This record gives sequence, C-alpha cells and structure tokens, in this order.
Amino acid sequence: MEYPTTVEDAVALLAKHGDRAMFLAGGTDLLPNMKHGLFEPEVVIGLGAIEDMKGIRKDKDGSLHIGAMTSLTEVARSQLITEAAPALAQAASVVAGPQIRNMGTLGGNVMLDTRCQWYNQSHFWRKSLGYCLKKDGTVCHVIEGGKKCVAAASNDTAPALMTLAAELHFLSPSGEVALPIEELWKADGTWNKNVGPDALLVSVHLPALSGPHGGAYLKLRERNAIDFPQLGIAARLGFAEDGSIFEAAVAATALGPRPILLQSTTKLLAGTTPGESNFEEALLELCAKAHKQLSPLANIPGDETYRKRMVPIFLKRALVLAAQP
Ligand SMILES: Cc1cc2nc3c(=O)[nH]c(=O)nc-3n(C[C@H](O)[C@H](O)[C@H](O)COP(=O)(O)OP(=O)(O)OC[C@H]3O[C@@H](n4cnc5c(N)ncnc54)[C@H](O)[C@@H]3O)c2cc1C
Ligand code: SF4
Repeated sequence: MEYPTTVEDAVALLAKHGDRAMFLAGGTDLLPNMKHGLFEPEVVIGLGAIEDMKGIRKDKDGSLHIGAMTSLTEVARSQLITEAAPALAQAASVVAGPQIRNMGTLGGNVMLDTRCQWYNQSHFWRKSLGYCLKKDGTVCHVIEGGKKCVAAASNDTAPALMTLAAELHFLSPSGEVALPIEELWKADGTWNKNVGPDALLVSVHLPALSGPHGGAYLKLRERNAIDFPQLGIAARLGFAEDGSIFEAAVAATALGPRPILLQSTTKLLAGTTPGESNFEEALLELCAKAHKQLSPLANIPGDETYRKRMVPIFLKRALVLAAQP
C-alpha cells in the first residue's frame, strides 16, 4: 500500500507500477471487488492523505469546486451543493447506506466499475458458471452471442452531474485534462470510460447557472436502506423571470454501460410553465420519448419490463419535483 500526499506523486506511483496498481479512495467498492477476485492489484495507492483532493468551495466566477476525495456524506449535506445543485445532493444522499457514504467519495462514485448480476459474484460462483467476457471468460450471459460487455453504469451521482454539465479534472502521465462529464463514458461495460486507469480524477467542477434552477434525483431500488439503483433519473430545470422554463436536462443511470443524457429536453420544455397545461403536455411527450429510448437490460437484478415501465413514471416525478425551485 502506498500513501502519496500530492496528486503528482499519486500519478507517478501508478505510472511506476503500471497495471499492477490501482487507486483506492474510500475503498467501499474496490475492496469488495478485490475480495471477489474481480480486481487483483499487487499495489494499492491510497488517496486519503492528499489534502488538495478534499473539500467543497465556491470560486469567484460562482462555479463550485468539489475535490474528488470529498465524502458522499459531505456532498449530500453541503449547503453550497444543496442550494446550487440539489439533484447532486439528493443523489449522494441515497448512495448505499450511511456508513458507506461516510467512507465513499464523489471521485470513487464517478469512477465506479460497471455492475452485472453475472459478474459481481464470488470467484466460486463465477467459476461454476464458466466466467464471462468481462473477466476470465468468453461469453456474455446477458446478451446471447454478445461480443461486448453490457454491464450497467450504476453510479447514482453520474446522471445528476450530467444534468449539471459538470467538468471533470484529471491528471495522468500525459498531463492535465478537463473533460465534460458527458464525454467520460463509452458503451463498453468492461471499461466504460474514455480515460485510462492511470488517470487520477482530481476534482469535479460545476459551472455557475444563470437564474433560478430546480433539480431532483429519483432512484428505484429494492431496499431503500442500501441497494444500488435499478434505475436512477436526474432532472434539472432553469426558469426565466416570468416562471417559464428556459432550459432543461434529464439523465438516467443503471441501464447500459454508460449513463445517458436525454437529447432535446430543452427543445420540448422551453417556454412551458409548471402548473399550466403546456407543461403537462410537454411532460407527456418527453415521458413517451424516454420510454422508447431508455431500455433496461437483464444485467442487474430487477425485472427489465418493470424497470422500463418505471422510466416514464420516475421521469415525470423527477421533473415535477425539479419544477419547484
Ligand atoms: C453494499 C454496497 C452498496 C452500494 N450501493 C451503492 C449505491 O446505491 N449507489 C452507488 O452509486 N454506489 C453504491 N456502492 C458502491 C460504492 O460504495 C460507491 O459508489 C462509492 O461512492 C465508491 O466510492 P469509493 O471512494 O469508496 O471508491 P473506491 O471503492 O475506493 O474506488 C472505486 C473505483 O474508482 C477508482 N477511483 C477511486 N477514486 C478515484 C480517483 N479519484 N481517480 C481515479 N480513479 C478513482 C478506484 O480505483 C476503483 O476502481 C455500494 C457499495 C456497497 C458495498
Ligand atoms: S454483461 Fe455479459 S460480459 Fe458483461 S459482466 Fe455481464 S455477463 Fe459478463
């Protein structure tokens, strides 16, 4: 175990040990995965001693800076976040249970591995099934004949951050990169990110929003006390002075390998006013569109038909909540 105290040292250590090493933040996902034999790093680089990666602040331009090592509990309770980015505070507040949120970090949540009911199992269990192509095997048990892993992005904060147009600041051996969060993901459940495992997520930036905004995150899960999402939907609405909507964003998680930002939401909702019939009509149209576009797979527990039926219901509820800034 290595304990660097600067981001530069953390990146240099990972480069030195190569693919034998992994970053460890709160360890709430990595450690169970190591116990299951899903990851077998020989060196673990603990990020807990890097003070520069902790805390939340408001910058002069009104944007929010959140260190990647800030705990989910702090994100959920921060007044800066609850006021400026309620969907993110709500998403952080429903990750797992309280103990895990105290240890788990925002960075670890963004960089979370994808999940699958055929993969997140003990070695014994996976071996008896003949493994799968994400680890040690050659077949996919979700898509018959599938050549690509479709394990699900299951991070609750991802859709909230997408509706907030968050920017992710990485440091890797090739330098610093600022990536719009929408560009982080790719549709490959084996590794669903467009940065390599040697990239350290240093901080998350939320741009300042103009005018009043409302936001919400709703999560479908079996047990509210602890479970991962079976579906997660985040919504954000921006309001003009007359109370009408001028901007809207909706994103979903726990479907396929990447969280999805729904297209044309502003086009559909702009100019409508919550409480008036034009808002209700636009909601119906958006919900029908989302129901067509968002299709859960048999990759995580929870019947896919039921999860699909819940898409428009959760979307409508999230938008109605976001309409109360
Ligand atoms: C019982 C249980 C229930 C859970 N329920 C949920 C849930 O409902 N929703 C949910 O979203 N998650 C859930 N989780 C998963 C996990 O607890 C959270 O996602 C948590 O936020 C992970 O953060 P961490 O700091 O513990 O990450 P770690 O476990 O330390 O790391 C996770 C991954 O991210 C990488 N990583 C961590 N930090 C960085 C960084 N700064 N830069 C680059 N890579 C990094 C690590 O190498 C590792 O691959 C659950 C876990 C358990 C055990
Ligand atoms: S989606 Fe297929 S390949 Fe990916 S983890 Fe699940 S069973 Fe394995």
